[in-house]
Amino acid sequence: MAMKQIPFDSTQVFIAGRWRGCDSGHSLPLANPSDGSELTRIARGTRADVDAAVAAARASLAEAGGAWGALSAAERGRVLLKMSARVLEQADELARLEALDVGKPLKQARADAVALARYLEFYGGAADKVHGQTIPFANGYTALTLREPHGVTAHIVPWNYPMQIIGRSVGAALAMGNACVLKPAEEACLTALAFARIAGEAGLPAGALNVVPGLGEEAGAALAAHPGINHISFTGSVAVGALIQAAAAKNAVPVTLELGGKSPQLVFADADLDAALPFLVNAGIQNAGQTCSAASRILVERPVFDEVVRRMAERYRALRIGPALDDLDVGPVISDRQREIVMGYLEVVKSSGLKVAAQAPMPSTLPRGGYYVPPTLVADVNPAHRIAQEEIFGPVQAVIPFDGEAEGVAIANGTPYGLVAGLWTRDGGRQWRVARRLQAGQVFVNNYGAGGGIELPFGGVKHSGHGREKGFEALYGFSALKTIAIKHD
Ligand code: NAD
Repeated sequence: MAMKQIPFDSTQVFIAGRWRGCDSGHSLPLANPSDGSELTRIARGTRADVDAAVAAARASLAEAGGAWGALSAAERGRVLLKMSARVLEQADELARLEALDVGKPLKQARADAVALARYLEFYGGAADKVHGQTIPFANGYTALTLREPHGVTAHIVPWNYPMQIIGRSVGAALAMGNACVLKPAEEACLTALAFARIAGEAGLPAGALNVVPGLGEEAGAALAAHPGINHISFTGSVAVGALIQAAAAKNAVPVTLELGGKSPQLVFADADLDAALPFLVNAGIQNAGQTCSAASRILVERPVFDEVVRRMAERYRALRIGPALDDLDVGPVISDRQREIVMGYLEVVKSSGLKVAAQAPMPSTLPRGGYYVPPTLVADVNPAHRIAQEEIFGPVQAVIPFDGEAEGVAIANGTPYGLVAGLWTRDGGRQWRVARRLQAGQVFVNNYGAGGGIELPFGGVKHSGHGREKGFEALYGFSALKTIAIKHD
């Protein structure tokens, strides 16, 4: 009965524009995090499927006389715009799939579908606007630069924001004329499959996008190590990111790593607290805290510390938790394993005698098998404590007091990560000073965009990764610069 929730055969791989069974003939269960039931099954793709996908991608490129490679930049852009329109038309259905698969409340899933459409619109519009430069070189020469596709690009994505991450990475890669092999996460890959169907309907030539679901250590590892790929875009954990980089090094291919975070928001005593409060809490509980740029640390200047904790606690106590399709504030986490990890951290909070400022109430009506954890606000956390250092990937926020700008910045920068940071202050000089000193790929002043900003280049420093996706910048990452110098005199 549960199988009917998914209106297509999810056990196939998409290669060379066609759906087919995977080489292993095996499938993997896909859980519904809201109740723990088996939602459907997905293909267990392996090396043979990856080989076929890479070959199909290669065949679509200009060097092989492929149909994708034959399109002009403007024509590529038009295909992306058609894909964008179809995504919008199907946004409700895509949101339902993402909510069922990831466990996120329906309105958050719908925002992801709209973001996917927007990425395709942005990159569709940009496809024919990436210009090279002319260079004043020696007399008698004309020299210029061109941006060319890498060739076959590999996209290994996680389960927390499948649609958004596919949009920003596959969208930009296609805009530059690459052919993509996408390996979605084994925990959530339904919208990746739906996206492949939409791409076909919108007229994306066969082979330009191939999707091979499967286990990370099988299909993912085979893709990362494949000698036929020319670029890897990886979004996921630091540990797997290191494996990906090692695999890329063997084939000398460029890699973009979008990894984890322990992102801070700094609240100074002069901040507009009414404006800050919703952002402080939402950036911690959005997608049940499973956001790379979740603001899992809230640093508060001492004079307003008690007030901020009290007002955040009020919001925590009002949070409504429930199944994704009930569309409340917080859904389950992705898996039983993830639930255990988060509950383990809550045990650490207890055993180290930390102060739980508030916990959201867990309704007795929650489906028994669902992977729910109570959103928890922990106050007065020492910045060196594990809770303030490690990425929990659940709805747990640590509130940390600080005295003055220098200490605030030192605490903010005092983790291995550097993905996103936010600061709240009315002091104009401090806005610039602190923004410049924070070690992060993105800094938001008097706002916070956990994962947001299609137009804004995004990526990390330190263990949060390297390379940039989103915005125009991504188009440079997904292309190779060629310099041509012509001697004419
Ligand atoms: P993960 O690293 O376990 O998995 C990510 C992807 O890598 C999945 O598709 C998985 O199948 C694949 N994979 C796993 N092992 C592999 C291997 N040996 N070789 C090749 N591929 C392999 O990460 P996760 O638990 O799914 O996602 C959570 C992590 O992702 C968090 O750390 C989070 O911060 C990070 N993340 C970062 C961003 C960002 O943009 N910076 C966005 C979302 C998530």
